[in-house]
Amino acid sequence: MQKELAQTTIELIQGNITKAEVDAIVNAANKELIGGGGVDGAIRSAGGEAIVQACDAIRKRQGGCPTGTAVITTGGNLPAKYVIHTAGPVWQGGNEGESDLLASCYRESLQLAVENEVNSIAFPSISTGVYGYPTEKAAQVALQTIHNLNDSGTKIPENIQFILFDDATYNCYVKALSDL
Ligand code: ADP
Repeated sequence: MQKELAQTTIELIQGNITKAEVDAIVNAANKELIGGGGVDGAIRSAGGEAIVQACDAIRKRQGGCPTGTAVITTGGNLPAKYVIHTAGPVWQGGNEGESDLLASCYRESLQLAVENEVNSIAFPSISTGVYGYPTEKAAQVALQTIHNLNDSGTKIPENIQFILFDDATYNCYVKALSDL
């Protein structure tokens, strides 16, 4: 499924983000930038040592990547030139600023993308795995954040993909994009 906005085309694709042929993929990282499971493990194992070393260097330099922020590294052996690592919030029931932090992950990732002349970017469903964010709510935040940036005239990449691993996640994003 896809939707054209003034500045960008949003595409929903079911699949594995490590295979995405885009300028940058986004990693659902942790704030320590230490390898985890899920999509982080998949990206590090497909991208190789160059990504691990780049994350280690950022951790030594600035202590990591606080929740809601993003950093950029090489894509190593991936088809993508860059990986943008963002630390999503852990779901704690919804009253701990989770939606603002999740929106911030998308805004900061897109800002870093534009700063690095990224025209095409692929996101996974940030925070909805181990971090427990309800997927239906996370999909609304993700798509609404992009919609708001588009409407406010903030520059964003011309192609924004969501690469969603499983049926249930894909279906939540389809519903949220239809409702947008
Ligand atoms: P978080 O810790 O932010 O919750 P997870 O990696 O646990 O991150 O999960 C985020 C989402 O990424 C989940 O929907 C999970 O199914 C999905 N995922 C896992 N591996 C991949 C992959 N290779 N490509 C795309 N999505 C993936």
